[in-house]
Order: sequence, then structure tokens, then C-alpha cells
Amino acid sequence: MAGIEVTALHKRYPDGTVAVDHVDLSIGDGELFVMLGPSGCGKTTTLRAIAGLERQTTGDIRIGDTLVNDLPPAERDIAMVFQFYALYPHLRTRDNLAFPLRAEGLPKSEVHKRVEEAARLMRLGPLMDRRPRRLSGGEQQRVALARALVRRPRAFLMDEPLTNLDAELRADMRTEIKHLQGQLGTTMVYVTHDQVEAMSLGHRIAILNKGRVEQIGTPLEVYDRPASLFCAEFIGSPPMNLIEVEVVDGKLHSKGGLVLTPPPGLPRDRSLVAGVRPEALEVTEPGAEGSVPARVVSAEGLGDEVIYVVDHGGQRDVRVRMPPTVRFATDASVGLRHSGGTPAVYDVHTEDLVA
Ligand code: ATP
Repeated sequence: MAGIEVTALHKRYPDGTVAVDHVDLSIGDGELFVMLGPSGCGKTTTLRAIAGLERQTTGDIRIGDTLVNDLPPAERDIAMVFQFYALYPHLRTRDNLAFPLRAEGLPKSEVHKRVEEAARLMRLGPLMDRRPRRLSGGEQQRVALARALVRRPRAFLMDEPLTNLDAELRADMRTEIKHLQGQLGTTMVYVTHDQVEAMSLGHRIAILNKGRVEQIGTPLEVYDRPASLFCAEFIGSPPMNLIEVEVVDGKLHSKGGLVLTPPPGLPRDRSLVAGVRPEALEVTEPGAEGSVPARVVSAEGLGDEVIYVVDHGGQRDVRVRMPPTVRFATDASVGLRHSGGTPAVYDVHTEDLVA
């Protein structure tokens, strides 16, 4: 097993597109590290460079103690799983698993042992003698994962491996991958554009935007203190509210009259917005203690919660997460109250977290 160090990785494609712009990543041995970002942010290119499938323009990649810049993929001792299963259609599960080991020339007994172990870990018992066309999408993906496992690589690289599965199966497989990674303790780099997947899987998450790293942190860190407006808008569903504020007597005042207590170290003389999660706000009866006037723009019941969109001081998209029992109709005059916690504060011009 091994950690992965990516230093000043830069990739410019022949047509001039800069896909990865001086990215630094330090991935720990045994870590489940997620790269998250919108389409085109450079996740796949970074992963393919680590795998050796794409040559970087400049920068270094180390796996364990080895500088792998000049090593072909086969010599990097990693296994990659893609969103497409890429199983051999004519081979039964058993032989799909054994194939890479036989290709390596391992003795028969060792091949058998590893195939049985992977089958046990991925619970493939009843599927071992079937060919891919007789497997469901989820089963095929489990076989693809098992095939990556049998090689006992130093690291797993996963590129959106669950994208083609339906929602329920995706959630199951997520649990499975997390459990497996925990059991094996093998370093894993997992690429996704799905923030829920990132939050639920990652020990740490790197948020990428336009080829650059915007933030690296634990799921809690990136949720609580997004490092930039981009991260604030990308993480959370619905995302963080960004409310224009002015500083008066050390407090943050919104146009609609909300008063928020800022974290220490607020910079002076800058245009600021406060980042407030929907669950840190409450919709109340009008005039309730500590509330300011607002109006309901829409209310979306999701069964276990209601997401209100309210007009607050002319800002018509303030989202509030409430329990399902509280009901206010569209256009109702209501109160809006900050229910606690410290907002994240951003500079409007640099778009960075400043307090
Ligand atoms: P997605 O989630 O859509 O796969 P991504 O974050 O993985 O996106 P990449 O596939 O790494 O992003 O692509 C990053 C940028 O590089 C994009 O602008 C893409 O269009 C561009 N790109 C990718 N491959 C090539 C290529 N072979 N030639 C030129 N540009 C490319």
C-alpha cells in the first residue's frame, strides 16, 4: 500500500486546453480521497495522469516512494475502475476475475485463492458462473470492483464507478465500497461530480474548479467552512445562502434586517456576503421573537422536510430547511430567524472565505 503525492501537476492538451493547472495533492496511505467538481474541472485528467494513462505536461507523481512519471500504467501497481464495467463478455465471472492474475503469470493455486477471496468480499458467490449479459448493471459493477481487488494493488483509482446505476443501487454500492476500503485499508482515489457521494464516502475531499484545487478538507470542514463562493455554491443541497451584509458595530446586518454574529477576524472596508446554511435559518409566524419580515416564494415538501424559498429584503432566493410539519403557503407573510451557528463570510470581489 502507498500514499500518493501529486506536485504541481499541469496538463495542457495539444489543442491548448489547460485541463489541470498546477494541482498539488497529498493523499495518505490508506486514505479514501475524493476528487469532486463539475464536469470539465479536470478530475478525470488528474486521475488518468496518476494511472499513467495520460502524460502530464509538467509536475511530478509519486506512489509510495516511487517517482512514477516515466512508468507505464502496468508498472504503477494500481487498479482503475471506470463508470463502464469493461468486463470480457465471453468470460464467466470466475474467469473475468482470474484473467488479470493469469496474465501476470501467477500460479494456479494463488489465482484460485485470490479469486475466492474477492468473491467472498464482494458477495459474488451465486454469480461466479454467469457471463456478463446475465448480470444486472449493479452486479457487473461488483464484478468489475472484484476484478480490481484481486490484483491487490497499492492503490485503487475510481472514476465515477457508480454513475450508470440507479439511485438505490448507487447508495448500496457506496456503502459497499466504503466498507471494503475500510477493511482492506488500501489507498483509494475516487472521482465524482456528485457531492452526496463525495460527502458520504470521502475521508477527505478535494474540490476542483477549472483545473485548480479550490479546497481540500474533511466532509465536515468543506460543509461548514467552504473556502470560496464556488465551494459554498457547490456543496449542499440546497446550497448555502449567500446574503449581502454590512458590518455595523461588529455585527453583520443584511438588507432585510437579519443580524448575524460574525467569526473573529473580520476584515475592514470590504464588500461582504454571509454564507448561511438553509438549516441555520427558520421560517416563523410573522413577528415572532428575533425574526424579521419575509414572504414565502415557494414551499417544496420532500416528505421528511420542507424547503422554503423566501423573499428577504429583496433577495428572493433565500432557502430555509424546515421539518415537514410546519406549513406556510406561497405568498404568506412570515418571519425569518437565524437559528444559530456562525456564518462563513466571503469577500465579494476575491470570492474567498475571509472569516
Ligand atoms: P467530466 O466529469 O465531464 O468527465 P472532468 O472534471 O473529469 O469532467 P476532464 O475530463 O479532466 O474533466 O477534462 C478537463 C478539461 O480538459 C475539459 O475542458 C475537457 O474538455 C478537456 N479535455 C479532456 N480531454 C481532452 C483532450 N483529449 N483534448 C483536449 N481537451 C481535453
